[in-house]
Amino acid sequence: MVTFAKNWLLDLFSQFNDFEACSFGSGSSGNAYYIGNHDAAILIDAGLSSRKIVRGLEEIGKNIRNIQAILISHDHIDHIKGLPDLTQRFNTPFYATARTWEAILGNRLTRHTRPSCFTPLTPLAPFRIGSLEITAFPVSHDAADAIGFNIRTEAGNFGFATDLGFIGKEAAHFLRQSNIMILESNYDDEMLAKGPYPPYLQNRIRSHSGHLSNEQTARFLLECQHPGLTHVFLAHLSEHNNTPEAALKAVEDHFAAAKRQRNFHLSAFDRKKRSKLHQFSLHYGF
Ligand SMILES: [Zn+2]
Ligand SMILES: [Zn+2]
Repeated sequence: MVTFAKNWLLDLFSQFNDFEACSFGSGSSGNAYYIGNHDAAILIDAGLSSRKIVRGLEEIGKNIRNIQAILISHDHIDHIKGLPDLTQRFNTPFYATARTWEAILGNRLTRHTRPSCFTPLTPLAPFRIGSLEITAFPVSHDAADAIGFNIRTEAGNFGFATDLGFIGKEAAHFLRQSNIMILESNYDDEMLAKGPYPPYLQNRIRSHSGHLSNEQTARFLLECQHPGLTHVFLAHLSEHNNTPEAALKAVEDHFAAAKRQRNFHLSAFDRKKRSKLHQFSLHYGF
């Protein structure tokens, strides 16, 4: 009886205590992230080849056939490259806004995506996959209809935004609630200015519909730190205009300048290498 009660309690505890995340690649060469818990397994974006995504999942003990949904953030090729093949070979369901789906069909590289796998999603209208409650929110980026994601579980709150020129009101509202956050930190201002990109491309990246600089990201993290924020992963770092060291240092410098202690774990995803499978114990009672 005691053992039974103990197991029951352990089961109950583990249900309210699990959340996993892994990056298979993060940046302009391709983006795909695994997110899961005890009853849900999803991907955010499929911007690597299907072969790399399938292998990446295997390496962390997951199977593409168990993926319940791919959430598509926007239609740039570094976020959708593997989608046609994954839907054709494995029938993997995916969620995207109607305008993003139109853009996927209009791109010769992705127009073979299987239509029956598509479920439309509407920003700010929550939907569920297993016990994950997902809300997409609009972000400012030069794609058809770019979005970020807020994912609520019984255990806590996960925020995701890459590919955005600035953190607008809606994005800030959802990202602020995160216990765990994946947030873009694309470029270092000076490296971009002195780097190999022509002026028009530099301006595109700096614009309100481009990408977040280390400075913008660091400022936001300083401003939104709260006791429940435990982990931040910097994502979508530029190959030519950033380094992980520069992105991490920008956050440290902002906290030091403001004489504030950083109270969350901070790391940067590698552009090409898979991260480890991060496992979180969250129990904030959201
Ligand atoms: Zn991108
Ligand atoms: Zn993009």
